Order: sequence, then structure tokens, then C-alpha cells
Amino acid sequence: MSDIPYKIYLSEKEIPSAWYNVRADMKNKPAPLLNPGTGKPLAVEELYPIFCEELSKQEMDNTHAYIDIPGEVLDFYKMYRPSPLVRAYCLEKSLGTPAHIYYKFEGNNTSGSHKLNSAIAQAYYAKKQGLKGVTTETGAGQWGTALSMATAYLGLDCQVYMVKVSYEQKPFRREVMRTYGAKVTPSPSMETNVGRRINEEFPGTTGSLGCAISEAVEAATSQEGYRYVLGSVLNQVLLHQSVIGLETKAALDKYGIKADMIIGCAGGGSNLGGLISPFVGQMLRGEADYDIIAVEPASCPSLTRGTYTYDFCDTGKVCPLAKMYTLGSGYIPAPNHAGGLRYHGMSSIVSQLYDDGLLTARSVKQTDVFEAAEMFARVEGILPAPESSHAIRVAIDEALKCKETGEAKNIVFGLTGTGYFDMVAYQQYNDGKMSDYVPTDEEIAASVAKCPKV
Ligand SMILES: *Cc1c(COP(=O)(O)O)cnc(C)c1O
Repeated sequence: MSDIPYKIYLSEKEIPSAWYNVRADMKNKPAPLLNPGTGKPLAVEELYPIFCEELSKQEMDNTHAYIDIPGEVLDFYKMYRPSPLVRAYCLEKSLGTPAHIYYKFEGNNTSGSHKLNSAIAQAYYAKKQGLKGVTTETGAGQWGTALSMATAYLGLDCQVYMVKVSYEQKPFRREVMRTYGAKVTPSPSMETNVGRRINEEFPGTTGSLGCAISEAVEAATSQEGYRYVLGSVLNQVLLHQSVIGLETKAALDKYGIKADMIIGCAGGGSNLGGLISPFVGQMLRGEADYDIIAVEPASCPSLTRGTYTYDFCDTGKVCPLAKMYTLGSGYIPAPNHAGGLRYHGMSSIVSQLYDDGLLTARSVKQTDVFEAAEMFARVEGILPAPESSHAIRVAIDEALKCKETGEAKNIVFGLTGTGYFDMVAYQQYNDGKMSDYVPTDEEIAASVAKCPKV
């Protein structure tokens, strides 16, 4: 056994004091948000009715490489950070691989995922602006849970539109949010204009993230003292999530480990973007090179099979247009999809980095994902979230390739959270009832054809 501990912990003082904004180092900046009415780039003021002012500024900031983490946010981070970087000795042994596998574990907080890193930042800026509360959407429920923890801590009101299928399948997740004081509404609801419209157009729909976003935005803009917050996709969210990558890099540096490969699951791109940012920064500045891999579900393959174009961020088309790899804002993964990462598009930053060849992408089928999840749980102890297990799948595949070639690569992956609320999906897998669905080219083309022409 080497002298690298199972868990590399940083001290409290080693939590980064500033977030890193990779846009400052990108030669090709992510494309600007467009006003859906005029087709022109949005001015920052146009975001103020939707987002908090400070967060709007962060959204537009392509120049400042570092942005100080406010003291109050740092204090909150100290409750559950730094998160450990774990050397997966037991997994390595069971695979018989010469590779060294490390994972950055973000599931060590009650919300069970990395999403708390941005939730507390966004709630803090809302509070500082003197707002009454925030509205948001949640899919599987991790973001809503994280946000309700943050708003409870700061004394803000929190209204969550939860994708209907999750609301029904994950009653405990819903109750955690209510325990933290949030009001949870299944989406599409009959409480908003856009919800009523979607219910009329698609009777019996089980909802989608894009649809819940439309409802949450309408709820924010139609109530005095409320703003909308989003848990992924946005530049500001990737900025806050850079704390993951900065800590990972600090932990690796502490032991003189050079990562060869960095792997993250990609839904809207926030954990991946946050994990890879400092490393991509080095690549952009010509200081180092890494093999970076985004992993997405075969049933929602925005990077590997989507189109890089302007699209709506939401089904109701009330949000600004963003340029991204997209499957079309009306795309809804097949009903048998249980692995999360359901968003139709991908963060503009990750999309641009991918288009520029700084990272590659792979899609994996959900039965293979759950197989990897169980292998991991049985040797490493942690019961992983299905989302995180996409990254586990590819980390295992790569470690097995190293077994063939004899290479002792350093493989780092993001273990974004725990899967305690995903036991219905695990049950399907254990009962042998989980199936895979891979959309046809025709289905994807038909959905992408509905993207706006700009
Ligand atoms: C939300 C979530 C993801 C995916 O979101 P990204 O914005 O792509 O990071 C991944 N893992 C877990 C545990 C999540 O809760």
C-alpha cells in the first residue's frame, strides 16, 4: 500500500477563499444569452427581474478569474467542507487494475449532493438583496433539497416546482424539503399560466425539468420580492461549483499526484464544470494537459448526439435563449429512464469547451450504470446516486483498460452524491426490470428541429 491515505482531507483553512471563473481563461467565450423577443444579447439589467443582481453580474462576468466567496458562505461551507478526496483502494483491488482511482465525494451533507455549494451562494445573494424568497424547479429533488436547506438557514421563503413524476415517486425527498420549510408543488401544476397551458397541450404529462423551470420563473416574476434560482446549467452555478475542482486540485497537489484523467457525470454540467474548471484553466493557459470525460445517459445524450445551437432553456419558452448542445427544449427522456441527468441541454461553458475539444463525452446505458453503482457500493461502502454512477461506470471502464495495457493512470472522478432516495430505481434494477432506451436519430432530429432559428 502506498503512503497516500484513503481520504485526503484538507484543513478548514484550505477551503478556497475565491471561486474560479474559467471563462476568464477561455479564448472562445461561451455564447451570450439572447433576449427571446429581439434575438439580441441580453444586457445584465434585463436579468434583474428574474435573478438577483449580484448573481446576474456573475452570470455575465467573462473577465474576473477569481471571485471572492463571501464570509457567510464560507462559514456555511465549513459545516460540510472540505469534502474528502478518496483513494478508491478497495475498488482498485477488486478490479485488479494498476490504475489509481480517486473520487471527490460531495454526498456528505443532508441534501446528499454537490448542489448545496451553489444553493447557499444563491440564497445568500438573495438575502443580501433584501428579497423575501426564491422560487425554483427540482427534478429528482436534490436541488430543491439543497435550496431548502440554504433558505432555512438564512430565513428565506422557498417555493419549489417539482417534476410531477419525481413528486410522486420520491415522496421522502419531498418531505425533506417540507421539513426545511419549502412549499413543494408538482409540475406542471394548475397554479401558473404556463403550467395550465402545458397541461392542456400534453394531458397526463409527468412533467420535465424544462417545464418546471417555466413555472418557477413565472412564479418569481409574478410575486413581489421573489427571484428565480437554478441549480445547474448557468455560468454562475458552475462558478460556485468550482469549489469542488479547487479542493480536488489542492488535495492532489498536496500529495504530488498528477491526474491523467478527470471524469464527471453531466446533466446540466454544473458538477462537471466545477470539477474540471481549475484543470481546464491550466490547459487553456498551456500549463498542463488532462483527458477530461463528460458522461451522460444514452437516453438523454445532449453532448454526444445533440446539436450546438441556440435553444430555449425551458419548455414554456419564457427564459432567455442559450447556445448549447441540445436535444431540443421539448425533449423528454423515455418514461423508463431512472438515472437522472434528464435536462435537454448542456451548460454554455461546458458546451463551448466541448466544441473546442477540451473535453470528450460518452453516453452510457442505465443498466450498465446501475451495475457499476452496485459494484462500487459493495466495495467502497457508499451507496452512490444514479447520476454519480455514470461517472463511476466510465472510471471502472477506464481502469479496466489500464489492466489490459498495464498503465498506472491516475483517474479522478466526481462522486456527486448518495442514492438513498433512488431506491425505486435500484429496486427496478435488482428485480431485473430495468430496461434501456436509446432514442432514434429521427426522434432527436424531430426534437432539435423545433429549436428557434437565430
Ligand atoms: C443534480 C445532480 C447531478 C447532475 O447535475 P449537474 O448540474 O450536471 O452536475 C449529478 N449528480 C447528483 C448527485 C445530482 O444531484
